[in-house]
Amino acid sequence: MATPTIDSAALTSGAFGPAAALSCRECGERYDLGPIFACAFCFGPLEVAYDFSGGVTREQIEAGPNNIWRYAPLLPVSADVASRPNLNPGFTKLVVARNLGRELGLKDLYVKDDSGNPTHSFKDRVVAIALEAARNFGFTTLSCSSTGNLAGAVGAAAARAGLRSCVFIPSDLEAGKVVTAAAYGGELVAIEGTYDEVNRFCSELIGDPVGEGWGFVNVNLRPYYGEGSKTLAYEIAEQLGWRLPEQIVIPIASGSQLTKIDKGFRELIKLGLVEDAPYKIFGAQAEGCSPVSAAWKAGHDVIRPVKPDTIAKSLAIGNPADGPYVLDVCKRTGGAVEDVDDTQVVDAIKLLARTEGVFGETAGGVTVGVLRKLVETGQLDPDATTVVLNTGDGLKTLDAIEGTTGATATIRPSLDAFRAAGLA
Ligand SMILES: *Cc1c(COP(=O)(O)O)cnc(C)c1O
Ligand SMILES: [Zn+2]
Repeated sequence: MATPTIDSAALTSGAFGPAAALSCRECGERYDLGPIFACAFCFGPLEVAYDFSGGVTREQIEAGPNNIWRYAPLLPVSADVASRPNLNPGFTKLVVARNLGRELGLKDLYVKDDSGNPTHSFKDRVVAIALEAARNFGFTTLSCSSTGNLAGAVGAAAARAGLRSCVFIPSDLEAGKVVTAAAYGGELVAIEGTYDEVNRFCSELIGDPVGEGWGFVNVNLRPYYGEGSKTLAYEIAEQLGWRLPEQIVIPIASGSQLTKIDKGFRELIKLGLVEDAPYKIFGAQAEGCSPVSAAWKAGHDVIRPVKPDTIAKSLAIGNPADGPYVLDVCKRTGGAVEDVDDTQVVDAIKLLARTEGVFGETAGGVTVGVLRKLVETGQLDPDATTVVLNTGDGLKTLDAIEGTTGATATIRPSLDAFRAAGLA
C-alpha cells in the first residue's frame, strides 16, 4: 500500500489527542496510529482505541465551542483542532417533535436534525475527523467513494483546508447531490456502476502508485472517519440534559454511523458523563437495499450482499462493511432492524415536513418511515424517550418527491380567481 512518510514528531506531540492506538475489532491486535484500516492478521476492521485516564468533565465540554470540537477530548484530534481551517460541523438541532409524536403515538419524541450541517448532511462530522488524520499523515489529496453526501462534504472540507480533492460517485445519483458536490471546485468522477463497484475501484487506486499521498476518508482513513459519528451520540445526550435516549432510530448505509453512536453512548457511561441506563438501538433501511434488515429478520449473523434499487440513494450500499456489527449492537441493546419501501419513504418525508417543519432527504424518510412501522408493530415503547435521526437535507433529493407535491393552484392575480379555485 502506498503510504506517505509519517512525521513521528507530530504523532507524539498529541496530534491525535486521547487516541492511543488502532485495535482490531475481530482479534483485538493493536497497531500504532497510522493510515491503515485492516488487521494484518485477520483482515478485521481497525478502530481507534483511547486512553481516557485523564478523565473528561461536563464543564470542560460545555465550555467548548458550539460545534463538534467541544468533544475534542473524546476524539482522535489534538486539543487545538478548532484553530485549523475546517467546516466546524455539529451541534445541530434536537427538535422536540410533539406534533409528530402525537401523530405516531409517542409521548417523548425528538428529531436530531443533521441537515443543519455545513454541507447539509451528517457526513461533515466524519470528514472533519478524517481531515485531521489526513493532515497528520501528510496526505495532499482528500478523496472518497460516495453515495452522494460524502462527496460534497469532502469537496467542501478540502476547499476550506486548501487541499486537493478528487471524489468518486456512482453516475446515477440525484442532480442535487452531483451539482452541490461539484460546486466546491474539486474533481468529481462519476463511475458507471453501483456504489460497491465505486468502492472496489477506490481500493484498487489506493494500492496503486497513482494513489500515493491520497487520503480516502472512508477507506484508508476509515478508523478516524468513523469516530466522527460518535459526536451525534454526545450531542444527543448533552441536549437531553446529559442523559441517554431510551430508544433511537438510525439509518444504515455501511452501518458505521450506527455502531459509532453506540460506541459514543458507551464511552459517556464509562466516563461517568451520563447515568448508566439501558438504551435500545434500531437500524433503518430502505426495502430496495436492505441486506442488514434481511439478515436480522432471518436470524443470520452474516450479510448477503444485494444490488440496490431504491430512491434512498444515500443509503444504497449493497455490501455494508459494518453490517455484522450493526446486528451485534441491535441484538445487545434489545433493538431491531426494519425496512420500509419507497412509497413509505416518500410518505414519511412529507409527514416529517408537515408535522415538524423539517424537510429531510430520503434517508430521513427511511428513519421516520421505520419509526412509524416500529410503533405500529409494537416494537417501540410509546412512553420512552425516543430520538429519530434526520441525516440530510430534502433539497438534495427533490427528485424523490417531485410529482407528488406542488402548487395547490395556479391562478391569475385576482381575488375572483382565488375564490374560483375554492381557496377563499
Ligand atoms: C452516509 C449517510 C448515512 C449513514 O452512513 P453509514 O455508512 O451507515 O455510516 C446516513 N444518512 C445519510 C444522509 C448519509 O449520507
Ligand atoms: Zn485482527
